[in-house]
Amino acid sequence: ASATRSVARTSYAVQGQRPASSLVYIEHKNGKMNDSTLHAVTAAKAVGGDVSALVVGTESEVASVLDEVKQIDGLKKVFTAKNEGFAHVMAEVSSFLDSSPATSSGPITHLFAAHTAVAKNVFPRLAGTMNVSHVADILSVKYDDASKSTEYTRPIYAGNAILQIKTSQDKDRIGIVSVRTTAFDKAKMGGSGAEVEEVTAQPADSPTKFISEELTTSTRPDLSSASRVVSGGRALKSAEQFTAVMEPFADSLGAAIGASRAAVDAGYADNSLQVGQTGKVVAPELYVAVGISGAIQHLAGMKESKLIVAINKDADAPIFQIADAGLVADLFTAVPELTEKIKAA
Ligand code: FAD
Repeated sequence: ASATRSVARTSYAVQGQRPASSLVYIEHKNGKMNDSTLHAVTAAKAVGGDVSALVVGTESEVASVLDEVKQIDGLKKVFTAKNEGFAHVMAEVSSFLDSSPATSSGPITHLFAAHTAVAKNVFPRLAGTMNVSHVADILSVKYDDASKSTEYTRPIYAGNAILQIKTSQDKDRIGIVSVRTTAFDKAKMGGSGAEVEEVTAQPADSPTKFISEELTTSTRPDLSSASRVVSGGRALKSAEQFTAVMEPFADSLGAAIGASRAAVDAGYADNSLQVGQTGKVVAPELYVAVGISGAIQHLAGMKESKLIVAINKDADAPIFQIADAGLVADLFTAVPELTEKIKAA
């Protein structure tokens, strides 16, 4: 560890009077870039200065996403780090990031990624290795070139308070930053094709080995990026009723399905569907909460939605305080009726 750390110190030492220069970690899976990365690019652009991208993966993984990544608007360079050992993103092997790409193009001031499961896994370890803070789940970023300090905001206490964080180059040589995707627009595609540079990278030696992964597959839109989300709560009463009521409703709107934690804990819906403080954060154009009371931990994951509709039989349910439209009704009659009307429209 001490050897790794000393490499990091050399690479990132003394930011001095150099301008901002950010690197965005490109998340990808099955040969496609994860769209959430584009939000991280926008955050990197807000810093000012150069923005480059880093694609880490096996030879074929990198090859299949490279064309897409090169088209991201406003990138100075795309760095690629290819190695068969990068086949599955694991924090243990990805900690090579602390020294690699920066050395070929001058030190970087900020490393960004979208605040996804991947960044939540890789970035804390990386920051620990480099002895700097991981600034997680940011809502805004502002870099002051004169003082070389960066100011961030991030939600705390389930979004009930906003924390302001200021880092300075003396203490944090580099910002290791993950970005709340709903707080930044997607960077545009259609760039003129950034220059590509390969960097040599070896996966760090680790006793942790990848064994297998089991993924929930769905033909529905991805919950985190869907423009419409319908979520069901405890009121659905069973997994069968959750499916019978929510699936046709979601299909009628072309929506992704979400769930409250109570519904997930009771086994009505898969864990990957949980919306909220300890689930996914979504901000779709339309969010329909069905039989969900509106606990603050649930609101933390959906209150930035553009149009919130609540269906609840209790007129005093807290969800109505943030809903743009509400229907006080029994969901078992209202939702099937609504589904039929939407289909017929
Ligand atoms: P309930 O609160 O039981 O609400 C059910 C609602 O359905 C009620 O408002 C009721 O009026 C209505 N209803 C009942 N029957 C019908 C019917 N027939 N027709 C119409 N309406 C009906 N929760 C999350 O959702 N996401 C999180 O990420 C999350 N993280 C948490 C983290 C921590 C640390 C803690 C302590 C809690 C967390 N919770 C989270 C749990 C949260 O506090 C609530 O317990 C949970 O959101 C309640 O889920 P619910 O609204 O489905 O259930």
